[in-house]
Amino acid sequence: MTDSYRDKGLRKQLVETLKLKGIDNEQVLAAIATVPRHLFVPKYLYEHAYTDAPLPIDCKQTISQPYTVALQTSLLEVQPKCKILEIGTGSGYQAAVLKVMNNYVYSIERHRQLYEQTKVLLNKLDFHVATKHGDGYAGWPDFAPFDRIIITCGAPAIPQKLLSQLKIGGILVAPIGEKEQIMTKVIRINEVDFQITTHGQCAFVPMLNNMDY
Ligand code: SAH
Repeated sequence: MTDSYRDKGLRKQLVETLKLKGIDNEQVLAAIATVPRHLFVPKYLYEHAYTDAPLPIDCKQTISQPYTVALQTSLLEVQPKCKILEIGTGSGYQAAVLKVMNNYVYSIERHRQLYEQTKVLLNKLDFHVATKHGDGYAGWPDFAPFDRIIITCGAPAIPQKLLSQLKIGGILVAPIGEKEQIMTKVIRINEVDFQITTHGQCAFVPMLNNMDY
């Protein structure tokens, strides 16, 4: 598993592309410049790893477009040492981006095969993320509450159980909608009040509520 000068150069170019598209959070751009995305995509797609596009991964899922990863991560407003819950581990790329930003990352995946292989990959690459095979709709009560929650699959509505696992002052970012989604940011103001803002259209694989064993 190598990370060549060419790969690093392609990452720098990708960062420039993201800046042109409006991403201006320096910590997020630094994380994108650091994480070797080519190691998170299937080998046959290596040549496409640093184009700003979503790509297929195993189990008919996708690794999000770098712009989307950068947008969601920017909206999360992470501070170092945040406890973050991710729903939809998939390739592990988004989790790795959050990890290099110095956070405690917990990630749940419903596909057993993806869970198994991504756990191995993240460990091999030294991204120490807590992973779990489970249903994201249930969250991860053992480690709740979280400072931040990021959903990386399209949820039909904001999952209420996840809101209940968000600290007061915490932020949840999720694509909400059926076929197409609206990027949605929720700030927990107090026990009962949430401030919701929207941040443009997007298209994600669906958040499903039946487990894949
Ligand atoms: N963050 C990932 C994106 C993967 S695509 C990455 O960076 O690659 C979204 C993932 O969400 C898929 O792997 C899919 O299996 C998973 N998913 C869908 N519904 C889920 C649920 N209810 N709980 C946990 N994971 C789910």
